Amino acid sequence: MAVLRHGRLHRYNVVPGELGETALLEQEFAAQMGAKYCLAVSSGGYALATSLRAVGVKPGDPVLTNAFTLAPVPGAIASVGARPIFVGVTENLTIDLDDLAAKLDQARVLMLSHMRGHLCDMDRLMQMCDAAGVTVIEDCAHTMGAAWRGLLSGRQGAIGCYSCQTYKHVNSGEGGLLITDDEELAAKATMLSGSYMLYERHLAAPGPEVFEKIKYTTPNVSGRMDNLRAAILRPQLRDLDQQVQRWNERYDEIAAGLLDTPGLTIVERPEEETYVGSSIQFLLLGWSPERIAEVIRRCAARGVELKWFGGAEPTGFTSRYDSWRYADSEPLPASDRILAGVMDMRVPLTFSLDDCRLIARIIRAEVGAVFQA
Ligand SMILES: *Cc1c(COP(=O)(O)O)cnc(C)c1O
Repeated sequence: MAVLRHGRLHRYNVVPGELGETALLEQEFAAQMGAKYCLAVSSGGYALATSLRAVGVKPGDPVLTNAFTLAPVPGAIASVGARPIFVGVTENLTIDLDDLAAKLDQARVLMLSHMRGHLCDMDRLMQMCDAAGVTVIEDCAHTMGAAWRGLLSGRQGAIGCYSCQTYKHVNSGEGGLLITDDEELAAKATMLSGSYMLYERHLAAPGPEVFEKIKYTTPNVSGRMDNLRAAILRPQLRDLDQQVQRWNERYDEIAAGLLDTPGLTIVERPEEETYVGSSIQFLLLGWSPERIAEVIRRCAARGVELKWFGGAEPTGFTSRYDSWRYADSEPLPASDRILAGVMDMRVPLTFSLDDCRLIARIIRAEVGAVFQA
């Protein structure tokens, strides 16, 4: 309300001595994540594209990324004129590290998407990428608040990117955050986002001497966050841990209800992973498309809306590497087999625990009915 009343919505529109909401948001998020630097931007996709620019990806460059992710990820790569090289997915719905190992020599950047909140073996991944000299940019759109062996998601790679749009873990309608410990990447990202020469109004950016080195050679590709969204986000970030707990109570309830359903595989969660159960996935491996469509139809008739990554056509948010036809992709048969059976459901906090138990019972009954037919 204060921001609306004073009307200084632009992040650099501050009166003398005032600390703008956007700068404060960055300072608080950096501290929360244990990162040196943070930049707030207009969307998660913009944070990803800005990261690619900051690490020096040029038109035509190859960039490794997940075959199983959502459209903003290959879209960010395409937006800088680069070429995605897709890496396969495992039954844990994480990046296939053997496939990655085979492709590591093809690019110098990996845009790693922690799709649907599943973290791969981050120790092995970072070891592989460090050894190969591959820079890792993390897409943490689904892992804000998650951790691998206690280290928060987004802190392993050179840059961590987050989305603040309505369907993510904090909600300002649209928005994104980027964190890094690298002063030059932070300065470049800040200039790229459209800071003009006002970078000294940041609280979580490197000192002016770092900007001096890059300010004439870094273009402005405006995509700033504004003070109103920052004001909306600050209290939500303070609540994040509690929200994570609420998501996980719901996730665990649904997962428990689906356990040992014949024909259905629940995606395993490794012990090293602290997850955020804001969505749940299960696999119907080896099922025909017709039978999966029948499960979806029967669940929908009882009010349970399931998303399916194996459908012939991309619908809503679900699409697959082979739907992004602007990017050349090699066939990935092992991944196709898995993607054909990936079922997905968001777990909004508006669901009560009773809702979650009921949803699990419905899915269990309908999967069972079609499986036995
Ligand atoms: C939402 C999302 C993003 C970023 O999305 P924006 O809509 O640009 O904020 C990136 N990656 C994944 C996997 C996402 O789901």
